[in-house]
Amino acid sequence: MSSYLDFSIGLLTTKPDGASLANNLQNYIAHVFSESSEQDIHLKVRNRGLLGDATNVPVFSDTLHQALEGMTGYQRGSNHVSHIGMLIADSFEPAPNFFGLMFDEAFAPDSSDPWAWTPREGCAVFLDGIKKARPGSSWMEEAIFTAVHELGHVFNLQHNEAPSFMTQTAAKGPIPLNDALFTPIERRLLSCCSTSPFIWPGGSAFSDLGGMVDDPISASSANRPAVHLHIGASQDTFWAFEPVELDLRLTARNKRSTLIPDALDAGYSEFTIWIDQPNGERRKLRSPRHYCAPRGTLRLASGEHFERDISIFGQAGGYTFVNAGIHRVWCEFSYSPTRRVVSNMLELEVKSRAPTSKYWQDASTLLEEKHTAQLLYYRRLNPERRVRTERLQHFIEAYRRQPTTPMLHYALGRAFAQEALSLHRTGAAIRDARHHLKAAAKNGQLGDHRQHLAENVLRKLG
Ligand SMILES: [Zn+2]
Repeated sequence: MSSYLDFSIGLLTTKPDGASLANNLQNYIAHVFSESSEQDIHLKVRNRGLLGDATNVPVFSDTLHQALEGMTGYQRGSNHVSHIGMLIADSFEPAPNFFGLMFDEAFAPDSSDPWAWTPREGCAVFLDGIKKARPGSSWMEEAIFTAVHELGHVFNLQHNEAPSFMTQTAAKGPIPLNDALFTPIERRLLSCCSTSPFIWPGGSAFSDLGGMVDDPISASSANRPAVHLHIGASQDTFWAFEPVELDLRLTARNKRSTLIPDALDAGYSEFTIWIDQPNGERRKLRSPRHYCAPRGTLRLASGEHFERDISIFGQAGGYTFVNAGIHRVWCEFSYSPTRRVVSNMLELEVKSRAPTSKYWQDASTLLEEKHTAQLLYYRRLNPERRVRTERLQHFIEAYRRQPTTPMLHYALGRAFAQEALSLHRTGAAIRDARHHLKAAAKNGQLGDHRQHLAENVLRKLG
């Protein structure tokens, strides 16, 4: 048995280099995957060229998901997809140095059914990040390597040491294409594609290999960590649709300063958010994207800390918390190949539906609406989300004292600020950003970290 898969390559850049990369990949990539899988994987490559009106916009994670769905069609609900895709873009706005990434299903709250999630459907390659790191003509070789690497993730391959295609060359330096290969274990996994949902795209979640290989991290966890990881939540009792943030604080424990990868996000393989559900089942928060190399490194002096927040109410496919009840949440951070730190554990209570409460009726109707929910999760505006802001503003005015209201102000303020600080800045966006961030920062309900962030953005807005 073998696996026939439609594989589309699409361009989100008008630069000629994007088209030459797509041409170079057309035969090469099908050959590599066929040869490395003992002819189990047959890619029917379709070079789709420039993807319509999706060009010349800044590329974010949700832009990629929309462009991918445009190529592969709507495949949600299928765990055996027939179509996968690769996007070639100039750069990834949130991290312009990235070479590429693999993405799971976007956060889309109309589907909280875990069986409706479609993981590992596509990936992206970013020309600017590659060219900056590999000047001259060597960028093309790195771009081809990156394309094979990202597609390897789509087949659920994890990072590996050189000279594998699964080496993180953005962090570890280039590998000439002539030396690059899939290791015997990777080849064995690829050759199971037609028979295993853990390899076939759309099958299991990324990094869930169903015990096909040992987990290398869990074998080496005995060291005393050099950092301390503390987590908190913006609310510990909430409904599943309310925007809840996880606050992380990483503190150095050593006398000397400590270098750690800047990878505190569920999109990095170094960082995992674990959730114990009320029924006892344990799972990982599923990031809508998978990054291949840390953004950089963080240097923490003794006693110094680093803070950030992560939206945890949504994940790839839909809402994170599906059932009411107590959820235990904690994080694990592998900050070096042999060392990791485990955070404290939070108990978060997801409230039951309350159909007799007027607030619940209004809140669930408004906040569960797909575009409104995406506005709160991605904190960015697009035309569909912009038309929803007015209703959200009325809702906030009507329910000023609800515990989730400061977070709604915060998300709206960040979304308007993102626009106000971009090329398309307008007076209205600046005014709305200031109004919501000020309202959010009032009364100290945001927590220290978000409070500082809100104040910083307000300063930038002038
Ligand atoms: Zn990778």
